[in-house]
Amino acid sequence: MDVQRKKRSWAEPYKIKVVEPLKVTTREERQRALTEAGYNTFLLRSEDVYIDLLTDSGTNAMSDYQWAGMMLGDEAYAGSRNFYHLEEAVQKYYGYKYLVPTHQGRGAEHIISQILIKPGMFVPGNMYFTTTRLHQELAGGTFVDVIIDEAHDPANEHPFKGNVDLNKLEALVKRVGADKIPYITIGVTVNMAGGQPVSMENLRAVRQFCQKHKIRVILDATRAVENAYFIQARENGYQLKSIAGILKEMCSYSDGATMSGKKDLLVNIGGFLALNDWDVFEEARNMVVVYEGLHTYGGLAGRDMEAMARGIEESVQQDHIRARIGQIEYVGEKLRAAGVPIVLPVGGHAIFLDAKRFLPHVKQVEFPAQTLAAELYLESGIRSMERGIVSAGRNKETGDHYYPKLELVRLTFPRRVYTQAHCDVTVEAVEEVFDRRSSIKGLKMVYEPKYLRFFQARFERLA
Ligand SMILES: *Cc1c(COP(=O)(O)O)cnc(C)c1O
Repeated sequence: MDVQRKKRSWAEPYKIKVVEPLKVTTREERQRALTEAGYNTFLLRSEDVYIDLLTDSGTNAMSDYQWAGMMLGDEAYAGSRNFYHLEEAVQKYYGYKYLVPTHQGRGAEHIISQILIKPGMFVPGNMYFTTTRLHQELAGGTFVDVIIDEAHDPANEHPFKGNVDLNKLEALVKRVGADKIPYITIGVTVNMAGGQPVSMENLRAVRQFCQKHKIRVILDATRAVENAYFIQARENGYQLKSIAGILKEMCSYSDGATMSGKKDLLVNIGGFLALNDWDVFEEARNMVVVYEGLHTYGGLAGRDMEAMARGIEESVQQDHIRARIGQIEYVGEKLRAAGVPIVLPVGGHAIFLDAKRFLPHVKQVEFPAQTLAAELYLESGIRSMERGIVSAGRNKETGDHYYPKLELVRLTFPRRVYTQAHCDVTVEAVEEVFDRRSSIKGLKMVYEPKYLRFFQARFERLA
């Protein structure tokens, strides 16, 4: 790697060719919008948002190279050339043999869960992800968290907080038997822990353990490129390896991957299931026809597959990924310097405000993270999202809430969309809410949907 570059700042490695105007609103307008949205930032209209940090999912800016590829969409029903380009890119950069495109990540999760999980089985994972766990449960499985304890402590600065705790995995095998465990899902990085990475050493160790017990390893590769960057930056022996090389090694310790292309792959829609096992692939190809579309488009237009194939190439460029993570680190450093409680170390795609420490007077059943996200919007028009008790949902046996240790507000940065000045404004807005934190009251839930309630739940301010 270029030594000179290490010293230089993370400056955006692109210039702006097309702009989209942003709307600035008044506090009165925002209060009205927030009331209408039931204090749920998912229910705000995008038009009423100034800087949108709700998610990095499908909100990326595509390059001119990707847009040019959109014009080369081969919209044939079967055998589109863009499918073959995508297949080639997945084989080259991820190393898997077989590809099933899906409309987005959850399409792939649905298919792999239905194929491999039988009712009564257990699926371990390094912390849950909402859609992943739901598809595992709908297939009759029970999710078991096997992430290291450090991941649940927002102040612990372990460099690989996404790691699997092999003792927890072993205890599960002893308790239920390996034949009841079809696979382990490893999220790289772990979204719900704050975008925290998994080390190569840990991936290797999990692979060894699982091989011994004939348990498959399925990566949630949604942010695997970001994970590769952290391995390069933090793990011994990887400083001089390329991101592409690290990514491929990571995938080599697994049997397949589900992918939401809407994150790492720099597109607005798309995903895939990638597999090495021919039999599983055959079944997946049968199922995709029922739920997504023919196996050479999986619910995507040819042009979307082309943009994703090109996004894969761009995602592993050193300049790109360094600026991507550099931007998040920049915001993290500023908030930390201002004394705002955030999850440390700063992860790959987002800054997570620690709502339990930010609003210590708001009880968890009064939804501190939901409250903080609403206040930040009211203050500034900046949209963030809750990752706490609302996202965690309810225990299907007891009917009570799950009470996650982490009660977080996620400020998620889309790739290549906002500038450093937008980052500064974001930091200022968070500081303003922090200054008046003691006067902020919690919320009560007045409408609760049955599945993935955080998307559509409604709230009112407590009197
Ligand atoms: C977004 C996401 C998914 C689901 O993908 P969609 O494209 O939203 O369906 C799965 N896992 C992780 C870690 C994600 O961030």
